[in-house]
Amino acid sequence: MTTSPDVVIIGAGLAGLACGRHLADAGISFQILETSDGVGGRVRTDHFEGFLLDRGFQVLLTAYPEAQRTLDYQALDLKKFTPGALSWFAGRLNKLIDPWRTPGGWREALNSDFASFFDKLRILRLRSHLRNSSIEKIFQRPETSTKDALRSAGFSDEFIHRFFRPFFGGILLDGELESSSRMFEFVFKMLSEGDTAVPAGGMGAIPAQLAALLPPNPIRFNTHAESLRENELTLHGGESLRARAIVVAADAPAAAHLVGEAEPASRSVSCFYYSADEPPIPRPLLVLNGDGSGPVNNFAVMSQVAPSYAPPGKSLVSVTVLGTQQLTDQQLSGFVIAQMKNWFGPVVGSWRSSRSYRIPHAQPQQYPGTLEPPQRPVRVRSGVYVCGDHRDNASIHGAMLSGRRAAEAVVADLAR
Ligand SMILES: Cc1cc2nc3c(=O)[nH]c(=O)nc-3n(C[C@H](O)[C@H](O)[C@H](O)COP(=O)(O)OP(=O)(O)OC[C@H]3O[C@@H](n4cnc5c(N)ncnc54)[C@H](O)[C@@H]3O)c2cc1C
Repeated sequence: MTTSPDVVIIGAGLAGLACGRHLADAGISFQILETSDGVGGRVRTDHFEGFLLDRGFQVLLTAYPEAQRTLDYQALDLKKFTPGALSWFAGRLNKLIDPWRTPGGWREALNSDFASFFDKLRILRLRSHLRNSSIEKIFQRPETSTKDALRSAGFSDEFIHRFFRPFFGGILLDGELESSSRMFEFVFKMLSEGDTAVPAGGMGAIPAQLAALLPPNPIRFNTHAESLRENELTLHGGESLRARAIVVAADAPAAAHLVGEAEPASRSVSCFYYSADEPPIPRPLLVLNGDGSGPVNNFAVMSQVAPSYAPPGKSLVSVTVLGTQQLTDQQLSGFVIAQMKNWFGPVVGSWRSSRSYRIPHAQPQQYPGTLEPPQRPVRVRSGVYVCGDHRDNASIHGAMLSGRRAAEAVVADLAR
């Protein structure tokens, strides 16, 4: 049996790092055990042939309160997407303007045929309603599916199909929009109150910044927590650890195994990267599949958002396919390229395939009922705590918030 610091945290994702950060602030000693070779969990960036490849397309919504509270945005050198989106339908790309943040955008937005006049009015109404609601209020509202909430708000099926389905399907990793309306409303509010951005150094710069603020050598990498009995942790290889408190900050399936809970269902996603000589679109906008045919849900030219994502003279295209699919990478990439050729013509034949990522557990499924109560307990039993996006909500905000809540519970209990 090895003697341990006061607290052992399992997992160096955002939740575990945030928990460590708050424990350090409270003067409590801890060690983080991480099964992989680096920090970040689901938020990591690979450096490959001069490109920055995030492990799956993801973005920071700068309005997340917990990110504002914890991160140094300036040091992250955030690069913003142009507000709005392009959606492919009717054989062309159609621009959805965000008139609040596009100088002179109101006339263009009102004249655009992306949405009917009534759908535009409903967007105005929804936006103002959510901006005037607190996050706490949003997460206390009666829940339904996102699709039903949009229909009850009066949006046309056509607009839901062309915009909400690929846009929020890409965020909630749920092309059917069955996820909780609370999560949809929370994300919509965050989108309307801040920027959509990535750090110049890749999304992995976010956990790297959190890790850099921890006391020296707080993390044991390549260390897998195998089982947790009573308050004794057994590591792969047989080593046993005891601590005054153990915080399980693993992803939902691993946490369920360790604390003996039922494993929640997962949303999965695949991401394909391509190097192109020229960007296929003129501006750093998110591009949506608004007609619904083909594997691509959305794509973005990351090097247009942050030039550091690609070496000079190259563009990095990040393509998102929902689910992990039964096909091989090569087969699926073949379908992606065929779809992109249909949209942008034969030039796509010159795109060079880079890495791809299949992520079976990208987010816990968040159907109505899962987010009830909005903040699930972080104290499992005396001396054992759990945090992670499955305790609050599947987002950078939710993961970091759960880490803080777990740290606060530990600090309170250790002070008794
Ligand atoms: C492709 C993708 C796109 C996303 N897009 C967005 C987005 O745009 N905006 C947004 O806000 N959120 C997004 N998310 C969600 C967000 O990334 C997650 O909610 C958040 O990162 C979860 O952090 P976490 O610390 O709870 O879990 P994790 O990041 O999963 O961290 C858990 C850590 O525990 C480690 N671990 C697990 N088991 C063990 C064990 N037995 N022993 C030791 N270590 C263990 C893991 O290796 C991991 O490092 C996305 C997620 C993915 C995958």
